[in-house]
Amino acid sequence: MRGCFWHSHNCKFSRIPKTNKLFWTDKLRRNVIRDKKNDRLLRNSGWKSIIVWECQVTSKKRFEKTKGRILKRMIKYKKIIEEKAVE
Ligand SMILES: [Zn+2]
Repeated sequence: MRGCFWHSHNCKFSRIPKTNKLFWTDKLRRNVIRDKKNDRLLRNSGWKSIIVWECQVTSKKRFEKTKGRILKRMIKYKKIIEEKAVE
């Protein structure tokens, strides 16, 4: 689960504050770089990750849509794992 502001999601919740703009731009840019690095480390270690953004669960409707997306992704990952087990 990623907070839209702290992890710079491209949505209305990730606007950079007007004060100390340079500080925030740099801080949030470093967070994104760290996220990418950590995502890559997980992938390279064989983990499958599903990123859920804060704005994707802000209402019951959005949460249900996100839940469907997570389930689809889990099924896809399960198939990949099963195919690897057969090889
Ligand atoms: Zn968002």
